[in-house]
Amino acid sequence: MANKSKFQAIRGTRDLLPPETALWNRVEQTAHEVFSTFGFGEIRPPIIEDAGLFARAIGDETDVVAKEMFNVQSSEPDIVIKTEDGIIAIEIKESLRTDSRQLESQLEHYRSLLERWRSDPSSIAKKETWMLRPEATASVCRAYIEHNMQQLPQPVKLYYMGPMFRRERPQKGRYRQFYQIGAEILGGPDAPAIDAELIEMLMSFFDKCGLQGTELSINSIGHAADNCRRGYVAKLREELIKVKDKLGADSQRRIETNPLRVLDSKLEHEQAIIATLPRIADHLCDECKAHYAAVKHELEQRGVIYRENWRLVRGLDYYMRTTFEITAQGLGSQNAVCGGGRYDGLVELLGGPPTKGIGFAIGEDRLILSLQESGKAPAAQGRDVYIAWMGEKAYATAIRAAKTLRKAGFRVELPPTELKFGKALERASKLGSRFALILGDNEVQSGEWTLKTLADGSQQKLTEQALLDYLKSL
Ligand code: ATP
Ligand code: MG
Repeated sequence: MANKSKFQAIRGTRDLLPPETALWNRVEQTAHEVFSTFGFGEIRPPIIEDAGLFARAIGDETDVVAKEMFNVQSSEPDIVIKTEDGIIAIEIKESLRTDSRQLESQLEHYRSLLERWRSDPSSIAKKETWMLRPEATASVCRAYIEHNMQQLPQPVKLYYMGPMFRRERPQKGRYRQFYQIGAEILGGPDAPAIDAELIEMLMSFFDKCGLQGTELSINSIGHAADNCRRGYVAKLREELIKVKDKLGADSQRRIETNPLRVLDSKLEHEQAIIATLPRIADHLCDECKAHYAAVKHELEQRGVIYRENWRLVRGLDYYMRTTFEITAQGLGSQNAVCGGGRYDGLVELLGGPPTKGIGFAIGEDRLILSLQESGKAPAAQGRDVYIAWMGEKAYATAIRAAKTLRKAGFRVELPPTELKFGKALERASKLGSRFALILGDNEVQSGEWTLKTLADGSQQKLTEQALLDYLKSL
């Protein structure tokens, strides 16, 4: 029996439709153009990666890895062997419970695996888990290592664009499948000019897209050393413990797990408390302090306007020095369109050579939303020419005319069945056509075609060549 219930896109995912997709294409085209003028090349990593890559690169403890990733089963296990305190439990998949013969043979197989595992646990390969990527920096770093890019002239400048997946609570500007445009600079020196030029590129891109009300915030989070960030975090923790009772549950927990993240808090009643906490700028080591000052100077030389935000932090050890974020208008509380920062230890953490790194990720959905809010959305794309034809001979001419016009780059609609001229003209204006090319017996015989301008109803007679010349001259 046919099931007639309708399907819908999964919650948190959505269809991008015309004419909106034209805006997406324009934004992506702008990224290709701007990034290539800064010497970046495009990388297209896969959308699924080994779970371990994200666990290591983003961190087991983060919300993204702990709660938000979409697992892709490489093959569903029939029977799962769990061990806990030496007790082994076997879970049998629903479908096997009704097929005793198959179950018997499966059990046999697992019994032998179990024996092997008991005598030598390392002899049984761990089951692969694949994940839909929640971001792409980890993939780019993996690719840098996998393809020995450290042998290329350094630094290597790469950009990417595409869908990312996070199991978050969907709301305006927050989806489970969303799109990022990002760039990474890997290798080379840690000259402050690299940080500044990356940010300059980003701001030129936003500018070229026509994004309104952009604000760039920057900060330096030093590096993971006792005389720098680690010392600061210890100090911060001390101060937080003193005000613990006044903080919410999340922040209380973070005092132990990740005090820096408390600075991220958006809770109203915590703001006044946070304002009194020690600031990282006063605890940077001399090198990080000098690096930060130089980045700011380099930004000024490039005419990039920024403001400093001491609360802009990243929770992971390998993030260091420069961090930045860009907000735009029209987005409500989800107003961050881009986040970025330096991550010098990441490539090494993933098994590569010590490598400097800095990058950013733009939330394309939010960028598009903001452009739409400020009236930058394109209108539905009309047709340049609608060909109204009647009769067998006229049809042959119409096919030829459509081919010639399309070759010249015009948007042409050729109705697949014959329509009375009145009906055809109605369709033409519904499709937002600029002109109707009228082809009937008279036109075919005389070789003089009728071109009607739909806006004012005026008509002119033109030969094929004259028509082409006329349209091109507009
Ligand atoms: P947020 O604080 O908004 O959750 P984030 O810190 O998780 O952002 P990043 O991981 O730094 O974001 O990703 C960079 C950009 O990607 C963000 O600034 C945002 O524009 C966009 N982004 C992140 N998560 C989503 C999502 N679920 N839906 C749409 N865009 C997103
Ligand atoms: Mg997030």
